[in-house]
Amino acid sequence: MARRYRMKCPRCGNAVNVGASGPCPKCSAPLYVEQQGMLVLYRMGNFVGSANGFGIYLNEQPLGAIGNRETLHIPLPFGDYKMHIVCGMNRQCNDPVLHLCPEDPFIALKVHMKMGFVQNSFIIERVDPSTIPQV
Ligand SMILES: [Zn+2]
Repeated sequence: MARRYRMKCPRCGNAVNVGASGPCPKCSAPLYVEQQGMLVLYRMGNFVGSANGFGIYLNEQPLGAIGNRETLHIPLPFGDYKMHIVCGMNRQCNDPVLHLCPEDPFIALKVHMKMGFVQNSFIIERVDPSTIPQV
């Protein structure tokens, strides 16, 4: 399967998956993949809540969900992005701020759920890109 990019459509506001470029599946607006920065997010396998997607937020803006053992490529302009992940009642997250810039344009991340006594929390960690399954 070809690589898909997760983007927020500027016309309809939906979080959509597109190829290198192509129309928005929701509203047919032409979309282009930003050639600046890239966040790659991999959700580690976890049998807890595995049926549910983890909701992704960047700077408080929803960006769809990620499934179990899924890898998402998120093209973005350079800048700072706070990543937050939620799933159901689990809303605690370490909320890393990611700084995409010309010196550091490619940031690979893994997310996993840490079991807690009251509620579970999400841990997002920066990792070596070679450790992420490229789907
Ligand atoms: Zn659209």
